[in-house]
Amino acid sequence: MSRYMSSRFDALEAYVPGEQPQDMQYVKLNTNESPFPPSPEVIAAVNAAETERLNRYSDPEGKALRGKLAEMYGVTPNNVFLANGSDELLFFAFMAFCDGERPVAFPGISYGFYPVYAQLLGVPCTQIPLKEGFVLDPKDYCGRGENIVIANPNAPTGRAIPVADIEEIVRTNPDHVVLIDEAYIDFGGESCLPLIHKYDNLLVCQTFSKFRSLAGGRLGFALASEGLIADLEKIKYSVNSYNINRLTTAAALATLDSNGYYLENSKKIQETRAYTTTELDKLGFETLPSVTNFIFTRCPKVGGGALYRELKARGVLVRHWDRAEISDWLRVTIGTREQMDIFLDKVREIIKEAG
Ligand code: PMP
Repeated sequence: MSRYMSSRFDALEAYVPGEQPQDMQYVKLNTNESPFPPSPEVIAAVNAAETERLNRYSDPEGKALRGKLAEMYGVTPNNVFLANGSDELLFFAFMAFCDGERPVAFPGISYGFYPVYAQLLGVPCTQIPLKEGFVLDPKDYCGRGENIVIANPNAPTGRAIPVADIEEIVRTNPDHVVLIDEAYIDFGGESCLPLIHKYDNLLVCQTFSKFRSLAGGRLGFALASEGLIADLEKIKYSVNSYNINRLTTAAALATLDSNGYYLENSKKIQETRAYTTTELDKLGFETLPSVTNFIFTRCPKVGGGALYRELKARGVLVRHWDRAEISDWLRVTIGTREQMDIFLDKVREIIKEAG
């Protein structure tokens, strides 16, 4: 840190993203990306359509994309907000809705950016512990009288709560925003999206980074009542009005035209998830039930940190956190069947060597 940085950030602990090795020599199962490339239509759209127009700014209103998403989800464009990844969307939401008088609560084990945004913006936050087995008890979130953020399904656990429970949380906090982060909704979960027609305090966030194979394009979107979307727009126009670039817009429009391709990929990932879990069961691993494109698992013989390091030395990257409550556990993204076979082979090797 230089001597010029504002001292208000002295205590800030920035988010640590998963490793992104640029040589691409790893079997990369650490940041929940899709192992499948974008559809051929997406690749064609980016090459051809917009490159020659890059000298011009993108549409700050994102009309084409908002229109298409609105049509797909049965809402109006005024119910749709676009952001440069759902990370930016989450940040805008924390900025728009949280402050000293409007604190925020979220699960103690969840997406690492929530506490970072709270800290960055000086928003008081309560981190509600999960129950035994990393189970989220919806009762902990009902009638709290503060803003609530829940990843559903949760990360890194992979567990989900039913839509009826979300409705109860939204219904019992009518004066606060309930943000449901559905980054992983398309791998077997049930979206709470229909509830936005009934509750004006529900903000549903999704992303193109997982199911839609567009992590590098950086596109997230929110669906909510017109009022909440207008609030987010106000923040966006105060930070970066051209937050979605032309190439990403072209890619995203073509993505929405290739839905069948992505559904097929999701099916493969769900099958590979079941296969990987079964194989890990045979080795005595404990794996939480997952409705996402990753699993949260622990080895009976080798600690989480050691297993992470041993896998990395053998060319397989997974995610591990040095946090006491989860230090035994690894989060493993579901890749292709071939990638998971390599992962499983390396795991068997390491266990054998551990004796
Ligand atoms: N929410 C959750 C729960 C996540 O795990 C992630 C990705 N790591 C994000 C949001 C952010 O995704 P993106 O910014 O790529 O849309």
